Amino acid sequence: MNRQAVQTLKTYFGYDTFREGQESVVESILEHRDVLAIMPTGAGKSLCYQVPALLMSGITIVIAPLISLMQDQVKALNEAGIHAAFINSSLSESQISKALYLAAGGRYKIIYVAPERLENYEFLEFARQVEISMVTVDEAHCISQWGQDFRPSYVKIVDFVKNLPGRPIVSAFTATATEEVKNDILCTLSLADPEVVITGFDRKNLYYSVENIRRKDDFVMDYIDRHPTESGIIYCSTRKNVDNLFELLFQKGVAVTRYHAGLNNETRKKNQDDFIYDRTPVIIATNAFGMGIDKSNVRWVIHYNLPKSIESFYQEIGRAGRDGLPSNTVLFYSLGDLILLTKFASESNQQNINLEKLQRMQQYAEADICRRRILLSYFGETTTEDCGNCDVCKNPPQRFDGTVIVQKALSAIARTEQQISTGVLIDILRGNYSAEVTGKGYQELKTFGAGRDIPPRDWQDYLLQMLQLGYFEIAYNENNHLKITSSGSDVLFGRTQAALVVIQHEEAVMPVRWPRSQPSATLPFRTRRLWTSTTPS
Ligand code: ADP
Ligand code: MG
Repeated sequence: MNRQAVQTLKTYFGYDTFREGQESVVESILEHRDVLAIMPTGAGKSLCYQVPALLMSGITIVIAPLISLMQDQVKALNEAGIHAAFINSSLSESQISKALYLAAGGRYKIIYVAPERLENYEFLEFARQVEISMVTVDEAHCISQWGQDFRPSYVKIVDFVKNLPGRPIVSAFTATATEEVKNDILCTLSLADPEVVITGFDRKNLYYSVENIRRKDDFVMDYIDRHPTESGIIYCSTRKNVDNLFELLFQKGVAVTRYHAGLNNETRKKNQDDFIYDRTPVIIATNAFGMGIDKSNVRWVIHYNLPKSIESFYQEIGRAGRDGLPSNTVLFYSLGDLILLTKFASESNQQNINLEKLQRMQQYAEADICRRRILLSYFGETTTEDCGNCDVCKNPPQRFDGTVIVQKALSAIARTEQQISTGVLIDILRGNYSAEVTGKGYQELKTFGAGRDIPPRDWQDYLLQMLQLGYFEIAYNENNHLKITSSGSDVLFGRTQAALVVIQHEEAVMPVRWPRSQPSATLPFRTRRLWTSTTPS
């Protein structure tokens, strides 16, 4: 290993050794090679370009997508005694001119810019008159339409590089490793004979679990109650969900904060800091939160809603356990979320891509094989063994002959001429005289009340299973009405049997201990077994 590099690592960053992957990236750059490094979140990608930046004669320009991310990095570098600066829209015109003036005089080794800046005339003039040793593209998946946060201005980076008097080294970094994204980065950036470094995506200290539950709030309350001293993140799909859950937890006396794009800058910054410095160890956030956040002791991440893709999911759960200690991830999976996301995806302008991504996410959520294998295979890594550290491994699903249950549901769908959605279907099965039921006269159907013995929550679960098994489809363009498939017909008419997974309930024996403000409420809890017995505490 390059001795100067090790020395730099020690002197400026205080670390003795490079981590897996860092070494080969640093060496390649120092040998003047282009690099594409694909490493999971928390692997330490920043050092891979910062260390060589300090050892090369000219300036390194780092392109990063988020202002907050640049600011944090520059702050950290300055504290380590490294001259670095950022140039972005948070600065005034005169501040930018001053920074460029200092930079032209050789003041900074590393300059962070937003991609839009590369098209700015003043900046281009500056870049053409100084020595630029390297252009680094951080979060390089932003270049790809397959990536989760496509940024059109990333595509123009290559023009910027071409306009420079000499070609600098180009290095690109991302945590997204799908083939499509990888190829997009390689092509769009025109990397020249690059060294491609991909390090293991396996995060062995993360426990993966999925909960098919409807009473999400109860789960969250109970979880926090059981892990009172731990720091955790709850991701919700919408600002409204964030706000609602925040109000609820706040009312219950939980030390909680929130983060979403609807809050002003100042509040976001404050809330983020409250979380990072453990003043409020729990944060509820939309996916706007987290990029570039380096908090080592996050013990759990709960996804209140299904994410749109495995990339986003993996990046978000990756914020847990950066210190390497055992940490927990829980994904809430509900039929409602799936229907809504599928609707969004089919209405989006990248319909095929988005639907495919969602399907992969769905496969993870519905898996009855080791979840880690699914995640790793998504990122192109194959394993031959089950991990033993996910809910499926800990608790393999048990099945029973659910033919009659499936027949009841399908028969109800058939008798309504396939004109109902899941909510009405459950009303019919349970014998509820809801407005939708009586409005259509469904109370007269033979199947009305035929599933009264099964609680609504379990129906929800069974219907999800039936959907997964392909017994019916949801017509998203037709008010989410349910349509029986040919394999559904086979079960309905007794030509085949249907195996369903047992839903395991457990009465909570212990009264739930709510923090402070809640009076001694004892909820009549029924939970899935996974929740109470296999989640590592
Ligand atoms: P990434 O960008 O890959 O998500 P970061 O660059 O933000 O990750 O680094 C994550 C954390 O790992 C940081 O706190 C960083 O200081 C730490 N780190 C990076 N390299 C090393 C190393 N060689 N030894 C110890 N800690 C490291
Ligand atoms: Mg990073």
